[in-house]
Amino acid sequence: MSGRNILVINSGSSSIKFALVNENQDDFIIEGLAERIGTPDAEVTWKENGEKKHLQLGDADHAEALAQILPHVQKAAGTLTGIGHRVVHGGSQVHEACLLTPDVISVIEANASLAPLHNPPGLMGINAAISIYPELPHVGVFDTAFHQTMPEHAYRYAIPEELYTEHKIRRYGFHGTSHMYVSRKGAEMAGLPVEDSCWLVAHLGNGCSATAVVNGESRDTTMGLTPLEGLVMGTRSGDVDPSLQVHLHRTFGWSAQEIETLLTKKSGLLGVSGLSNDMRTLIEASEKGDEKAALAIEIFCYRLAKSLAALSCALPRLDGLLFTGGIGENATLIRKKTLDHMRVFNFKLDDQANQSCVRGQGGKISADGHPLVLVVPTNEERQIAIETLEVIDAQ
Ligand code: ADP
Repeated sequence: MSGRNILVINSGSSSIKFALVNENQDDFIIEGLAERIGTPDAEVTWKENGEKKHLQLGDADHAEALAQILPHVQKAAGTLTGIGHRVVHGGSQVHEACLLTPDVISVIEANASLAPLHNPPGLMGINAAISIYPELPHVGVFDTAFHQTMPEHAYRYAIPEELYTEHKIRRYGFHGTSHMYVSRKGAEMAGLPVEDSCWLVAHLGNGCSATAVVNGESRDTTMGLTPLEGLVMGTRSGDVDPSLQVHLHRTFGWSAQEIETLLTKKSGLLGVSGLSNDMRTLIEASEKGDEKAALAIEIFCYRLAKSLAALSCALPRLDGLLFTGGIGENATLIRKKTLDHMRVFNFKLDDQANQSCVRGQGGKISADGHPLVLVVPTNEERQIAIETLEVIDAQ
């Protein structure tokens, strides 16, 4: 097999996603997911050259799960050039992908309080993979890094300075790997040089965020200190009046934990619909007359449109709007409803093109003579592999 192979690892609290990416091949050699890690039902399923495979992992923790998975990856790869790890929070210290040296690992540890659900399991995956493959280069690719180009007026909150200087409280932004990949791909699709292009990017999956990208750099984004700020998401509220939290505490005696659970796990599409966090389910339900599902969709689209309009303040001009993520790549209704709210931008969809760009098919969905709108399927694993190779090549 020609071309170098990179293993991409994304460790969550009870799951590990992985992909074996060859630099010259569009399809991944292996793509898999280990789930229920830390329970007796831990298991891994993966696709290897199109064939489905499955393994029970016993009561495996992250280290044990990787120890069982990696020999299969190694066998399929032959030679591995390096491992790219997705890391959620690199704070202000990390501006780009970098080798996971002890110093960088300390930075990830130091930022764990800002991403308590993500950085600790990420570290478990990193430490386990390093102990299995100590001789390979391990590279961290950070969700926050792409947004380190935001200007201070975009990343600071209007709160006293010492909270920023002493406690690192500022806006960081997330989904950077996807926003970077999609803005570059969008420029390529539009025939524009990345370094002279201006985009609004809407990444709409279970988590949702939008970013203003100018000349390949993030200038503002909707997520902030944590991935709760901004757009309405599957189970996250996005923006609410900050006083809501005080009100719930003072008036109803809710604890910090209860408020956090409410806003991160019980809100968003799920909270409004009372039915599901899954957009497909809500679209089907609303078509059958479910009014709460319909309202959840309306709030989602209106709030998305409002945020995109706000982000346009960070652009010198608009070359186009890019939709990505499970919802952005598939939900034709959501794309239409969102643009219908943005009347002053003069967006207009080509209905047929909008219907055709689903299930991984990207392309232009705007009508001729109107601002460009593209569907750009994201590929975070590919972007992590690209950045991992760039770091290895620069050594
Ligand atoms: P994650 O953020 O976990 O990677 P995805 O990017 O896979 O999530 O997006 C998941 C979301 O995409 C879910 O809300 C799902 O309902 C939605 N989605 C996937 N396919 C469709 C579709 N055909 N129509 C509407 N929504 C869809």
